[in-house]
Amino acid sequence: MEPTPNDHRRLGRDLALFDTDPLMGAGLPYWLPDGAAVRHTLEEYVREAERAAGYRHVYSPVLGKRDLYEISGHWDHYRDDMFPPMDLGAEQVVLRPSLCPHHALIYRSRSHSYRELPLRIAELGGMYRSELSGVLGGLTRVRAIHLNDAHIFCTLDQAVEEARAALALIARAYADLGIRASRYRLSLPGEGGKYVADPELWRRATALLREVLDNSGIAYEAAEGEAAFYGPKIDVQITDPVGREATLSTVQIDFHQPERFDLHYVGADGAKHRPVMVHRSIIGSVERAVAYLIEQHGGAFPAWLAPVQLAVLPVAEAQEERAHEVVRQAVARGLRAEVHGPGEGTLGARIRAARLVPYQAVIGEREADGGLVAVRLRDGRRPGAVPVAELLDRIAARVAERGTELWPAA
Ligand SMILES: [Zn+2]
Repeated sequence: MEPTPNDHRRLGRDLALFDTDPLMGAGLPYWLPDGAAVRHTLEEYVREAERAAGYRHVYSPVLGKRDLYEISGHWDHYRDDMFPPMDLGAEQVVLRPSLCPHHALIYRSRSHSYRELPLRIAELGGMYRSELSGVLGGLTRVRAIHLNDAHIFCTLDQAVEEARAALALIARAYADLGIRASRYRLSLPGEGGKYVADPELWRRATALLREVLDNSGIAYEAAEGEAAFYGPKIDVQITDPVGREATLSTVQIDFHQPERFDLHYVGADGAKHRPVMVHRSIIGSVERAVAYLIEQHGGAFPAWLAPVQLAVLPVAEAQEERAHEVVRQAVARGLRAEVHGPGEGTLGARIRAARLVPYQAVIGEREADGGLVAVRLRDGRRPGAVPVAELLDRIAARVAERGTELWPAA
């Protein structure tokens, strides 16, 4: 496929965000420091949004015994997308194709009272998919995926509200990140043996998801053949600049896995009851989310997401030590800043090279003597010379509130 001007594969390499090496393998990208900074910021954002919404985070291994996926149903319904199992003594282990079975076991490891529900377990974890090499490229079709995932274990009565709250969390994240949903899709099963057979469970889960969508006033389309093998889902679709559509976020209501793993909670009546499992992802895989953000912003990320937020440019060698001091102060404030010194070229060339950095601070003799920096913004504006502390205060404030305006009027 021909790369377009904003193609994340081209920008990823040009801006040193991520790359691949045939020796590591197709579909197994690695993240360079600037790309890792964007990813880390995105992950922090998601974890904080989840923490504030009552989720608890866990870690679970990327491998599991084959038996685990036989119980979950992945082995029967999803094996073609999984890596072949590895023999380990008398056992076989598998690179996990999803986090759900691990979270079901984490839930099952303790007894639960109805008072603890809804119990929201979140993890940003690795999973693996044996995509054919022909369709691999960049961050959108990968064999190693890091999923922003969560499972909410709740009563049937709570499931609709939990799914609604998950959709609200997705909408909030899209607003903060500048992601535009192109459409909402209610994904239903299609023909064939890909889906677990229990018409009554499918009917109930579909009715609940329709209720969530209808009550939210969101316009949606139903699509057959797009469900997960264990249940229907709401897919939030995005479209890249050349019109290719993909699923980023999902909300699913699942009666199947709680049955398979024999999950229960103790109700107010003292008896055991089956919880419902709501699967949801706010930003989907970090790979796909970052690919979208790269293309959406053409590499010019909002200041809070930018790999480098401040470029400090000493005019001559005499101001170089001063420039390093400004960077040290910026880093101490939690900002990402770099010096681009005279060794990297003329001042004009260095300004052009840093054109995607939201803030540039030029230090000449006059600025150095006065404790100032001459500020240039990515959008071409030049607010002039300001004290270093004032510049850092302004950047830190914009980053903290995830603002898009780089230099609001005071
Ligand atoms: Zn799941």
